[in-house]
Amino acid sequence: MTQEPTISHGKISESLKRFPLQLLKFYPKSFVLKNGLIYGLIRNPEGKKLVVLGEKAAVLADPFKGITFHDASTLKVCDLTLENTQCLMDLFPFTKPIPLLRKWTTIGTGDRLGLATPGHLRAVNKFPVRPVLAQQSVRENIQTGRNFPGMIQDAAWGVFLENYQKGYGADGDHLKTFQEIKAALDAGVSMVTLDLSEKLNPKAFEFSKETLDLQFREAVDAEEMKVLSHLFLEKEFHLKGPQGECRIQFDEEELKRNVLLYQKAIDFTEEAYEFIDSQTGHRPTIDFEISIDETPFPTTPENHLFFVIQVTQRGVQLDSLAPRFVGEFQKAIDYIGDLQAFREQYLKHSLIAQHYGNYKISIHSGSDKFSVFPEIGRLSKDGFHLKTAGTSWLEAMRLIAEIAPPLYRQMHEYALSVFKDAAKLYHVTTDLEKIPDVHRLKDQELVALLDEVDSRQLLHITYGYLLNAKTPEGADLFKNRFFHVLTQFEEEYWSLLERHIEKHLISLGVEKGEEP
Ligand code: ZN
Repeated sequence: MTQEPTISHGKISESLKRFPLQLLKFYPKSFVLKNGLIYGLIRNPEGKKLVVLGEKAAVLADPFKGITFHDASTLKVCDLTLENTQCLMDLFPFTKPIPLLRKWTTIGTGDRLGLATPGHLRAVNKFPVRPVLAQQSVRENIQTGRNFPGMIQDAAWGVFLENYQKGYGADGDHLKTFQEIKAALDAGVSMVTLDLSEKLNPKAFEFSKETLDLQFREAVDAEEMKVLSHLFLEKEFHLKGPQGECRIQFDEEELKRNVLLYQKAIDFTEEAYEFIDSQTGHRPTIDFEISIDETPFPTTPENHLFFVIQVTQRGVQLDSLAPRFVGEFQKAIDYIGDLQAFREQYLKHSLIAQHYGNYKISIHSGSDKFSVFPEIGRLSKDGFHLKTAGTSWLEAMRLIAEIAPPLYRQMHEYALSVFKDAAKLYHVTTDLEKIPDVHRLKDQELVALLDEVDSRQLLHITYGYLLNAKTPEGADLFKNRFFHVLTQFEEEYWSLLERHIEKHLISLGVEKGEEP
């Protein structure tokens, strides 16, 4: 990497003061010299802006759109629009998402609010891991009123703000249709997470023996059965790795149930894979993840093995797969369940992934699973992909509790009033009775609610309601005040995020330091 000469932040800051900028803040790490011009981010009362500083002719020739001011030199002030984001990615390629999963241990931090990236980067920068900074599902985007282009745009400017040049990913999470995949790809994601939950037939594991045989005969002819028997019945799968070994065998009944469970999902995976190919023309630029975590039952190692052998036979290459693990991975709280059972199954999942394409196991709803993190770290030979998202929203609520107690109380009350409705979308075991009355708590006691299981879940699942809440006149009830606090205290927000993500990586056994 050729490094342009370093620039003096003091001098730049001084020369910026000559222009009518209403400068509130200056982001020193973002300031770089490129092709003879100085680029960097500042904040004025309207929000963050890109400034371009240099000689008149050069500034005028520069592709960013903005308003120019002339003094001894020329300054251009640009909004962080989609069009300017494109210019940013062309001029500073490190701000463009890239595929990462094959090479790195990765953490999908997500950012529902579009403000969290610098905090995430300050944490991951200390470890030999790479972040998937932009990571939203269609469901999340609906709740936050965002979209895929906006999600990537916010991440790109955050990357520029921190001058983070190691590469980051953008994940179209839990995509269920070709239309959703296309929207994500068009926006420039570097990763597609295909959600198969609607293509599975979980009844296959409840059928009586008779129904099973009947359905199976309808679904599979003798010729196909021969292939299946050859693939699955006449052998024992013995998988071995440095982290342990396991043996897996299928009997005929189990094989039939797996066929019926996954038949449609396997077809859909193949079609989606080909669709992505046709859209991108060069698939290595996209990380391809399969998610079967949002199903009514845990994914057994047999389920996983059956599925991956079948899709591999059809030429599909996975970069990661998200099973549903034994026990409970509820949002925003620690693992609930038998640790030994988790350990045994995780070992098998990781051995399967290692033997059938060396893809990553992806851990969804991965925030705060501190009791299983050490095992995940130990049992994943070549790393893992951990997804957290809502947790950065909760850290924002922690900041609100610390900085703006009256706003926190109002939001908390509102969350209680919509909890029942919000809980329809999630599997949570929240006990509202255990949450203390916020009006009886002193201001400084509020922040402790962010460390309690029940209040964490209350706030976690009601984020969409809180951001969209309106007054009777139709104005935003909380959104403006909420974002105002987050913007005013962004450094504090970033510190909370840095601490929180760092805690995750340490618990996962990732050692600090540069990559080998
Ligand atoms: Zn998931």
